[in-house]
Amino acid sequence: MVPRVPLNDLVRQNLTIRDDLVASASRVIDRGWFVLGSEGSQFETAFAGYCGAAHAIGLANGTDAIEIALRAVGVKAGDAVVTVANAGFYSSTAIHAIGALPVYVDVDATTHLMEVEALRRALATQSISAVVVTHLYGRLADVEAIVALCDPKGIAVIEDCAQAHGAQRNGRRAGSFAKAGCFSFYPTKNLGALGDGGAITTNDAAIAADLRELRQYGWDRKYRVNRAGGRNSRLDEIQAALLLTKLPRLDAWNEERRSIARRYASGITHPAIQCPRDFGLDDVVHLFVVRCKDRDRFRQHLDVNGIASDIHYPIPDHRQPAYAERTNGVSEMLTETERLAGEIVTIPCFNGMDEREIERVIAVANSW
Ligand SMILES: *Cc1c(COP(=O)(O)O)cnc(C)c1O
Repeated sequence: MVPRVPLNDLVRQNLTIRDDLVASASRVIDRGWFVLGSEGSQFETAFAGYCGAAHAIGLANGTDAIEIALRAVGVKAGDAVVTVANAGFYSSTAIHAIGALPVYVDVDATTHLMEVEALRRALATQSISAVVVTHLYGRLADVEAIVALCDPKGIAVIEDCAQAHGAQRNGRRAGSFAKAGCFSFYPTKNLGALGDGGAITTNDAAIAADLRELRQYGWDRKYRVNRAGGRNSRLDEIQAALLLTKLPRLDAWNEERRSIARRYASGITHPAIQCPRDFGLDDVVHLFVVRCKDRDRFRQHLDVNGIASDIHYPIPDHRQPAYAERTNGVSEMLTETERLAGEIVTIPCFNGMDEREIERVIAVANSW
């Protein structure tokens, strides 16, 4: 029996740097300072520098990052926030946490990213406070056009970079294009901690200062609540130390993901399986997602041949049962969002995947 090809395997990446990870964690244990300390501020400086942003603020996770960024740009209960409905409900969770209302716009059929014209139509018909643009699957959205559309209207744009650490276009990286960039360091992300973690990048010093208050009860100093709407959402020192160890390797890991993606794009030739084709620096291939009309049968074929697959994401946000009644924020038919939800399949693409596994995925896909 050949072993199954998993969708991801976090052990492999961490094994290549195991000694460094253990040393980083030990350093924190021996120092005895565990939340908001020197590892955290070193990581914030390094990560801001990597992203090409002036500031980075460490947080507990990526969903908090979106919520707290929205609060920092002034989004309040009852406000309308535009986002997409195909990105796993994370931005919706953040929007609902504030008591704001998500307004969903459709995505492009090829890129699966926010369609700029759909956004333009939504802005023309409704009063919108902010836009969350998701760089889904590791692919940079058309964030320059979105910012150009929103800036003159005074509408803040927030990037959801949780799948796109390091993606770049014209020398600018995800998290440096808009008012704020929100990152998750959940273990499976391109830059993953060994637990939860998150961050916000921004070029705006006033927003950065506000974020530092918002992440810790609204304090401007100990026990003085200067800012309403505060949360407790902090990056811990062990995760920050581990992330500091991993950050210098991120570009190489992203390049490895792209090279697997290129192998798939040229190797998978089955006419019923549509692969994404271009993998430039603007795509860090967080997930390799193909389209297939007969998805269930394709996934079954993968499964019986020992290849794991998944769907990211099967239920569009506006169809989630808990919010179905309340979702009157759909500005128009989400035709592509719904079509894609019925056809997408994620196949294995991760750091440490070996040559034979890549070959097997290609051979099994083509043999369907
Ligand atoms: C993972 C993810 C998040 C949320 O991150 P958490 O750290 O799990 O809260 C947000 N947006 C996208 C697109 C993600 O993939």
